[in-house]
Amino acid sequence: MSSYLVELQHNEEARLNALRDLGLLDTPPSESFDRLTRLASRLLGAPVSTISLTDHDRQWFKSKVGVDLAEIPREQAPCNYAIQDSKVFVVPDLKEDERFRDSPLVQAGIRFYAGAPLITRAGYGLGTICVVDVAPRQLEAEQEQALRDLAAMVMSQIELQNMIGRVDSASGLPNLYQLLEDLEGPGDATGTTATGIVIDFMPSDQASYSWRALGAEYGDNVVRDALRLIQRLIGKRGKLYHIDATRSAILLKDDHEIEPAALIEEILAKLREPIWCKGILVALAPVLGSYQFTPGAEAPRTIVRRLFNAVEDAQHADGSVASYDPEADQRATRKFVILNDFKHALEADGQLLLHYQPRIAFASGCRTSAEALLRWNHPALGAISPGEFVPLVERTALARPMTDWVLRGALAQAVAWNRQRQPLAVAINISAANLDEHDFAERVIAAVERSGLTPGCLELEFTESALARNNDCVLRQLLALKEFGAAIFIDDFGAGYSNMSYLQKLPVSAIKIDRSFVYGLEASPRNQKLVRAMIKLSHDLGYRVMAEGIESKAAWDLLASWECDEGQGYYLGRPMPADSLTAILDGGEAPLPGRAIA
Ligand code: C2E
Ligand code: MG
Ligand code: MG
Repeated sequence: MSSYLVELQHNEEARLNALRDLGLLDTPPSESFDRLTRLASRLLGAPVSTISLTDHDRQWFKSKVGVDLAEIPREQAPCNYAIQDSKVFVVPDLKEDERFRDSPLVQAGIRFYAGAPLITRAGYGLGTICVVDVAPRQLEAEQEQALRDLAAMVMSQIELQNMIGRVDSASGLPNLYQLLEDLEGPGDATGTTATGIVIDFMPSDQASYSWRALGAEYGDNVVRDALRLIQRLIGKRGKLYHIDATRSAILLKDDHEIEPAALIEEILAKLREPIWCKGILVALAPVLGSYQFTPGAEAPRTIVRRLFNAVEDAQHADGSVASYDPEADQRATRKFVILNDFKHALEADGQLLLHYQPRIAFASGCRTSAEALLRWNHPALGAISPGEFVPLVERTALARPMTDWVLRGALAQAVAWNRQRQPLAVAINISAANLDEHDFAERVIAAVERSGLTPGCLELEFTESALARNNDCVLRQLLALKEFGAAIFIDDFGAGYSNMSYLQKLPVSAIKIDRSFVYGLEASPRNQKLVRAMIKLSHDLGYRVMAEGIESKAAWDLLASWECDEGQGYYLGRPMPADSLTAILDGGEAPLPGRAIA
C-alpha cells in the first residue's frame, strides 16, 4: 500500500475513533438536535433536513425532518464527500452529477443536496447537517451562511453533551474521564516521558467526619481551595484534574522545566499549611503518588491504576510521598486476585479444606478438641495461608459464607468422630464481622441442632479485638451462644489490647494464650513471667487457660508446672487432614516421644 493510502487509512481510523468516543451513534432522537434540523428545513425551504454521522459504512441520522430512514449506505452518499472539506458542499442537481447519478437518493426522487460538515476541534469530519430537495436548485449565499451557522450550533451541542461527564461539577475542573481521554494521545517517537501525580487531600475517615460534621458544601469548599492552591503552583506547566471527592491529578507536560520531585515537595508543603475555610482553620493530611510513563506506550487505564497504586502506597510512606512501585502493585494485584477468587473457591470442589490440630489436656494427656483451620489450594497460586487470605476476606461480605462453610465442615467432621469414639469437640475461628450479623448466633445454634451434636461439642474462638467492640449486638449474640451451651474462647490472648475489665463482662469460658508468648518459652525468662501471670490472673477470674504454639517438651513441662489447662502446638500435633487425625484417634500412630497421649 502506498504511504499516501496508509496515511489516509490512519486518518480514517482516528476519525472513526473520535466519532465513537462521542457515544452518539445509535442513540435515541433528542429534541436539542431535532430543533436544529427543523430550523434548517425552514430557513433553507427544503422538505428534508438531517444531522447525519458518517460511520464506517453508513450515514446514520441523529436527527431528521421529512424522511423516515434511520441510515443509508455511506457509499454514494453526498455527505461522505461533504466531510472531506470545511466548506458547504452543494450539488445543484444530483442527476447531472456522475458521482451521484446512480445513487439511491436519485432513485428515491431527490435532486438537490447542500451539506455543511461537522468538524471537531481536532479537524475530524464527523458528519453533516444537510438539506435535500426534490427539484434541482441553487443555494443562496445567505442560505449557505445559515447552514454553516447551524453546523456550528450542532458542534456546540455535541461538545456540550460531551463535556458534561468530563468536568467535575463541584470544582469545574476536568475529571477522571477527561484524564483518561488526555492519556489516550499518540506516543512520541522520541520516547519522551511524562509524569502523572495523584494527590489525596485527606484520608477517607477524616473526609467523612468533616463532611458529616460540617456538611458536604463545606467539604467541597475545602477541596476547591486546595485545588486553587495547586493550580497556582503548577501554572501552565501541567494540567490539573479533579478526579474524585478528595483527589486530584496533575499531568506534567513532557517539556516541564521543573523536576517533578521538586514540584511534589512544593505542593506538599503548600497543602500542609492550614487553610481557612468559612471561619474554620482546616488541616489537610495530603499524600502524593507519582508515576513516570511514556505517553502512548501504556493504556490510559493502566497509567491511572498505577497512579492510584502510588497514592495508596503514599498513605503508609515516610514523608507521605510514593512513586509507583511494581512490587507493591504485584502485592495489591495478588490481594485482588485472592479476594476475587475466594467466592469461587467457596463453591468449587476441593479448593478449600479444613485441617485439624488437636488440643490436649495437661492433666490427663487426653485429646479434648481439634481446632479447624482453613486451607486453600488455589488453582494458579498454589497453597495460600489463612494468615494471608483470612484477613482480606474478613473485611468483605464473604466473611459470612466463609464462616458458614467452616461451620458446616467442622460440624460434619465432629459428627463422624463422635459417632465412633469418645467425645471430641471442634473449635472454629470466628471473624469479628460475623458478630455484626444479627442472625449469627441463630445460624450457629440451628447448625448444631441439625447436626445432632451436643452444644458442648462446638467451641468458638474470637480474638480480643472482635469481642472488645463495645456493642450490644456482640453481647446479645455471645449470651445466646453461651446460654445454648457452646464454649466461647478468647483466641490470641495477650497479642492485642487486653481490656480485662471489659472482657469480664462477656460470657467467655476460656482464654488461649497467643503463640508468640509460647514459642521458645524455655529460653525467655520475660515470657515465662508473662505466661505464668496470665495463667494465674485468668484462673483467678474463673477462666480455663490454654496455650497455643507449644513446640517443645520443655515448654510443655513449664506450662504443666504452672497448671495451664490445655495445650496445642507442633510438639503435640501439627494441623493435619481429618483422615490423619482419625488415624491417630484410632490409635494407628505411636504416641509422642516422652509422653503417653490418649
Ligand atoms: P489461630 O486461630 O491462632 O490458629 C493457630 C495458628 O497457629 C495456626 O496457623 C496453626 O497452624 C499455628 N500453630 C499451631 N501450633 C503451632 C506451633 O507450635 N508453632 C507454630 N509456629 N505455629 C503453630 P494457621 O493455620 O496458619 O492459621 C493462622 C490464622 O488464620 C489462625 O490463627 C486464625 O486466626 C486464622 N484462621 C485459620 N482458619 C480460619 C478460619 O476457618 N476462620 C477464620 N476466621 N480464621 C481462620
Ligand atoms: Mg484459633
Ligand atoms: Mg491463636
